[in-house]
Amino acid sequence: MNENLGSLIKLQQIDSKIFNINRICNEFPLKIAEAEMPLKESLLFLNTSKQNLETFEKRKRDKERELEDINQKINKLKARTADIKTNKEYQALLKEIESIEKERSSIEDEILTIMDETETAIKKIKSEEALFKVEKEKIEALKKKLEDEKTEVEKELITVKEMRSKIVDAIERDIYDQYITLIESCNGIAISEAKDEICQGCNMNIPPQLFVELKKNEEILSCPQCRRILFYKNSS
Ligand SMILES: [Zn+2]
Repeated sequence: MNENLGSLIKLQQIDSKIFNINRICNEFPLKIAEAEMPLKESLLFLNTSKQNLETFEKRKRDKERELEDINQKINKLKARTADIKTNKEYQALLKEIESIEKERSSIEDEILTIMDETETAIKKIKSEEALFKVEKEKIEALKKKLEDEKTEVEKELITVKEMRSKIVDAIERDIYDQYITLIESCNGIAISEAKDEICQGCNMNIPPQLFVELKKNEEILSCPQCRRILFYKNSS
């Protein structure tokens, strides 16, 4: 086989490999971002629940203050009973106290409801925190796995690039330039196999006379359709 052709075939294999490695490397950030999506969602739920809890706690404090004010009011009214002279005044005062006590009872009910809601919110936070923890551990493990894979692939890339430069050294300059031009214009495939009189790069027929020449693998010959450099794989 033509030495340049032999090296070009190896170079194409290496370049396809490099292309794949680069594609894998480029996919890592996306893979990590995708893996982190459920975690971000869990955190969002958790934060919303925590905010809800804060709202309940604030409402409870407000209601407790209201209750305190009302209790003071009732105490003041009750203290006035000593100064009361007439039955009419006494009845009026009792009525007033009764009405405020009703108000107090309704505030107490509200506080109980808020306490129930708080309890539910705390339970929800606890279960969401547990879920978040599980998600986080899962994602940390996955990230570690992806990082390890990336390191491996990057190591492989260095080795492959070293191999590439050795092969390139063995190829004549103008043939290498032709190869690079084809790589750029032919979707990363510059060298293609001629099989059964068909170019495997563009699937077009190869003229019989050219195919006869190709089978010798003695020259750098191009596909008349796609211009890719052709080679023939001997089955023997
Ligand atoms: Zn072709």
